[in-house]
Amino acid sequence: MNVLIIYSHPNETSYNASILQTVQKHLAPEHRVKIVDLYKENFDPVLRFDETHKRRDLQHNEDMKPYRDLLSWADQLIFIFPTWWSGMPAILKGFIDRVFVTGFAYQNGPRGPVGKLDGKAWIITTHNTPKIFLPFSQDYAKVLKSQILKPCGIKPVKMTQVTRVEYMSDRQRKEELEKIAQIAKRI
Ligand code: FAD
Repeated sequence: MNVLIIYSHPNETSYNASILQTVQKHLAPEHRVKIVDLYKENFDPVLRFDETHKRRDLQHNEDMKPYRDLLSWADQLIFIFPTWWSGMPAILKGFIDRVFVTGFAYQNGPRGPVGKLDGKAWIITTHNTPKIFLPFSQDYAKVLKSQILKPCGIKPVKMTQVTRVEYMSDRQRKEELEKIAQIAKRI
């Protein structure tokens, strides 16, 4: 299977970096794995269009073509990111804005968007909010799952939430990494 990891954390020694390493280490060797490390690539997250550079032409933007090709190549997407202000980091939001564009990722139809992508996804996100509050939270990766990936045709979408991440003991954090390792092995 072709696996594309989309990773968004600025610090190479962060807990999210440990998650990335854990996933990479435990994916079965027969998979072909590629990584988009948005901070390392210095990805420009600002979507620009105007009267000269039309929104309808974003699907042909040459700078984003390598990313569109990677999405088309992938059977399985894995997103790894910390939750900031209840949602994804701006660099990842900008990646979605610029790459998941109309005509490529979805097409507007009479009853709303029709997905043009396929494959599955696994979202892994970390935050400090206790699990008990998640059902009342507006986002916490739910937007990525239900309002971005699914309308673009990507499903099922599995979600792993590492809650209270900064308040756990090191041992508890390592146990969370072990759970992630077990899921990665089954992909
Ligand atoms: P780090 O800070 O890198 O690490 C957390 C802990 O894990 C550290 O003690 C570190 O030493 C330890 N660690 C690292 N590697 C390992 C390992 N291999 N084994 C065991 N321990 C390890 N939280 C919310 O709940 N809701 C919000 O809306 C929200 N908004 C935020 C907005 C901003 C701008 C920021 C910066 C933070 C916000 N947070 C929020 C908190 C944020 O979600 C957490 O800081 C983040 O998820 C922690 O992940 P990290 O990779 O940055 O952890």
